[in-house]
Amino acid sequence: MAQASVTRRYRFCAAHRLHTDHLSPEDNLAVFGKCNNPNGHGHNYVVLVTVKSGVQTSNGGEMDLDRLDRTVAAQVVSRFDHHDLNQDPAFAECTTTGENLVLLIWDLLVKCLPSRQLKKVGLIETRDNYFEYAGGH
Ligand SMILES: [Zn+2]
Repeated sequence: MAQASVTRRYRFCAAHRLHTDHLSPEDNLAVFGKCNNPNGHGHNYVVLVTVKSGVQTSNGGEMDLDRLDRTVAAQVVSRFDHHDLNQDPAFAECTTTGENLVLLIWDLLVKCLPSRQLKKVGLIETRDNYFEYAGGH
């Protein structure tokens, strides 16, 4: 049976600095460029969350977008909005790249939504940088 999906857009603003203690200051600058600026910088992140539409919940109702909105607000927006991503415990051991952030957002959402409902998470970091993850490996 055909299965459509629906994508909702969310936003948060956050600061970060791309830096790893595994590299020298010179190599950090070479790898991360101006995103390695010691003072950090901010982005107006846009998160695009795609779910299967019309999913039946266990009590016979349909998964509603209000629930998705509440989940994203609680798990993602309130956690990151106006925060320094480098201070988030999830980034204690990894760099705050768009790749790592989109994986983290997927992990935060997938455990709070009905099984197999989450299809894809997209993350717009800058005008030219878009990251996405659709599960799997
Ligand atoms: Zn950046």
